Amino acid sequence: MKISEILLKNDVTLSFEVFPPKVTSDYETVQRAAYGVAKLKPDYMSVTYGAGGSTRGNTLKIAKGIQEEFGVTTIAHLTCVGATKEGIRQALEEMKAAGIENVLALRGDKPKDCEGDPFADYHYASELAADIRAFGGMCIGGACYPEGHVESENTKEDILNLKKKVDAGCEYLTTQMFFDNNIFYNFLCRVREAGIDVPVIPGIMPITRPSQLRSAVRLSGCNVPMRFRSIVDCFGRNPEAMQQAGIIYATDQIIDLIANGIRHVHVYSMNKPEVVRGIQESLNKII
Ligand code: FAD
Repeated sequence: MKISEILLKNDVTLSFEVFPPKVTSDYETVQRAAYGVAKLKPDYMSVTYGAGGSTRGNTLKIAKGIQEEFGVTTIAHLTCVGATKEGIRQALEEMKAAGIENVLALRGDKPKDCEGDPFADYHYASELAADIRAFGGMCIGGACYPEGHVESENTKEDILNLKKKVDAGCEYLTTQMFFDNNIFYNFLCRVREAGIDVPVIPGIMPITRPSQLRSAVRLSGCNVPMRFRSIVDCFGRNPEAMQQAGIIYATDQIIDLIANGIRHVHVYSMNKPEVVRGIQESLNKII
């Protein structure tokens, strides 16, 4: 099923993201965790793509397995940095053959050390979205950044670039994590002002360890409100208390989003079924 059709439903939807096994990790352990998330039967699931295509085969295998064994629609992430036009076409053929109808079109991060020009065939995700549209038969999603992409000069430019990505074929957008909903509401207003009218799905990251928050801030530069910083300072040394506090904080963000008219929420599960189950159970009278 296409994500665009799922998003047309009147009900509130909750979707979960998982990551596939890396070449170096134990396939069965990671698969078990991803399948544990699928058992919770979210409205759909996304499966990430390792930097530079390092998990390509596994992204597809996990996405296919989730669809076939649990009947949960999946979206496979795909990055284009360092990829060739031919390689992308082949990846799309493989997705089609595996029954995947949804793809998140991403540029990916610039590789730190790479031979040759990583942007020879693709500079931006919008070019990938255009190629996927030309390939046909796929519902295309894209990424967006309520606090601005780390490389962008300013958020205004970033939103103008986002419009190009939507014009190229993205039918919905999923946001980078944020810990202050006001940042999302503000972003949504500016996105709508720019004439972007596709669904914008907030991405919520339940933080269950202080190190997870540190790496989130390092990678995305996202703002951490004092309220959340105090929670991590207080409970960070007690793993069980931190997990519970992280689940409650993420749930609180989701309740506020729903109360403010947001119909679709994506949760970065980090392959932790117990965490997303905690969120689901806390919302069972709401969704
Ligand atoms: P783009 O949309 O191409 O934007 C990148 C930068 O280029 C931005 O600063 C933008 O403003 C600028 N730009 C865009 N178009 C133009 C233009 N025409 N002219 C000038 N500037 C332009 N990474 C992975 O490796 N694997 C994953 O599975 C993955 N999943 C993700 C899922 C989500 C929901 C999000 C938010 C991010 C994900 N990422 C993933 C990270 C992503 O690959 C990086 O953030 C990457 O740096 C940017 O990718 P993008 O698709 O947003 O790029």
